[in-house]
Amino acid sequence: MTNQILGIHHVTSMCGDPQANVDFYAKTLGMKMVKVTINYDDPSSYHFYYGDGLGRPGTLLTFFPWPSAPRGVTGVSQADTTSFAVPKGSLGFWKERLAANAIEADESVEFGFPTLTFLDPNEMIIQLVESIATPATNANYGEIPASFAIHGFHHVRLLSARPESTEKLLTETMNYSLKGEENDVKLYETNFTGSTYGRYIQIPQNPQVPFGRMGTGITHHVAFRVADDPSHEVVREQIMNAGQRPTEIIDRTYFHSIYFREPGGVLFEIATDNPGNTVNEAAEELGTSLQLPSWLEPQRGAVAAGLPEFVGPTGIHFPGGKK
Ligand code: ZN
Repeated sequence: MTNQILGIHHVTSMCGDPQANVDFYAKTLGMKMVKVTINYDDPSSYHFYYGDGLGRPGTLLTFFPWPSAPRGVTGVSQADTTSFAVPKGSLGFWKERLAANAIEADESVEFGFPTLTFLDPNEMIIQLVESIATPATNANYGEIPASFAIHGFHHVRLLSARPESTEKLLTETMNYSLKGEENDVKLYETNFTGSTYGRYIQIPQNPQVPFGRMGTGITHHVAFRVADDPSHEVVREQIMNAGQRPTEIIDRTYFHSIYFREPGGVLFEIATDNPGNTVNEAAEELGTSLQLPSWLEPQRGAVAAGLPEFVGPTGIHFPGGKK
């Protein structure tokens, strides 16, 4: 038990067409679709999880597909950029692969890390950051060789309305340290040394954009890890002592969660590592059928009938789950 936040757990965003989302993240980027479930707060919408082979915290990008919704407005009070760590020497491969899929990508160096920046099908900003010396493990990369494959998160960029207050919360309560500043952007790193995934947060100090509005292509919240339930209780107290107002602990089947809006307006979640994505599907079965929370299982037929059809990365037709 560490009683500390351990880095990024998952990032959850809104997308449009579910098929375009699956094709981009599972096929083009080679992430494993580890869970197909529904939005627990709105069962007429899917909830997709992508991650490494076991869907481990620190690797999980999740989406609520919202096919009829308009594009949101990217702006203050949101995370506007989600970045993934890739092995050193892999950006050339990714540049070619993205170009072959007609995706424009810009090369840069951020805080010393070679970085490729591009947009997903709903114009959400995605980055690949060369930062890890070893090939990825435990993944299902599709067409991507392990030596180039996505490991997990590198950082998220937060457009805080009050960067100083967000910094205070991160560094005094959430176990982050300021690591540097470049082009008016500050970089923070978790003090937890036990994981290479999801270590960093970037915060522009003067974001010259309007307030954001929810819609497709917009990140809904950023979740941070704690190791277990006892740590969750302690960290929840620490968050309250810092003047924040977290929710009660909510059971999300794959983790237990609290939510609060940090001082800069971004919705934060703190989620446990337990019980994890293999709680109701074996590792080799992850993402192969529609998973429902137990209270909706008796209405499976009606729930499925309200969901749009799409073909999963291994050819399974959802929501029915027949090959
Ligand atoms: Zn979440």
